Amino acid sequence: MSYELVIFDCDGVLVDSEPLANRVLSDCLQSAGFPISYEICVAEMIGLPLARCFELAAEWHGRSVPDDFFETVQSQTYQAIENSLQPIPGIADAMRAIPLPRCVASSSETAKIHLSLATTDLAAFFGDDVYSAQQVERGKPFPDLFLFAARQMGVAPKDCIVIEDSFYGARAGRAAGMDVLGYSGSGFARQLRQEGAQVFDDMAALPQLLGFGDTKA
Ligand SMILES: [Mg+2]
Repeated sequence: MSYELVIFDCDGVLVDSEPLANRVLSDCLQSAGFPISYEICVAEMIGLPLARCFELAAEWHGRSVPDDFFETVQSQTYQAIENSLQPIPGIADAMRAIPLPRCVASSSETAKIHLSLATTDLAAFFGDDVYSAQQVERGKPFPDLFLFAARQMGVAPKDCIVIEDSFYGARAGRAAGMDVLGYSGSGFARQLRQEGAQVFDDMAALPQLLGFGDTKA
């Protein structure tokens, strides 16, 4: 199968932000009186927009998060990104070895995606081809964002392949009618497989999976 567009998720695929973001999220939730651990954030909220994470917390504990909670979590997350965010190992070499159009489609807000890519020296790989769940009605696991990204890039969904690390993201990709490669670095190999993704565990293998030989070439 040959593809005309590679759609990259951001968090957990391009940048190693999931541990950092889930640490901030669980700390903020606990400070606000919601007993939601880091482990629960990782298991239940990974790949979801923050607004949906807050809805889940409210459903589980019978009350809403504070009015300014989005700003609280966002400012602490931005601080952590600027201080310590790293790229996923091997991702820059992998992209250099894949001669296909590419874009980003992420549940994060646009400003956070751009900050994450700039902090990790990945921004130049994508230019303006960065799409956020803020731009569509329904975020992942719905297919809207991937379909929007494909339309903006002028490629039919069947000619796109999605790179995802979360099961919600993989479900969104499959629902969009796209093939999905599931990077298991965030620990969800089994769930990614259940969602119909082909799973891989090393970014150095990505070019070969897309038919482009060796990353060192
Ligand atoms: Mg992700």
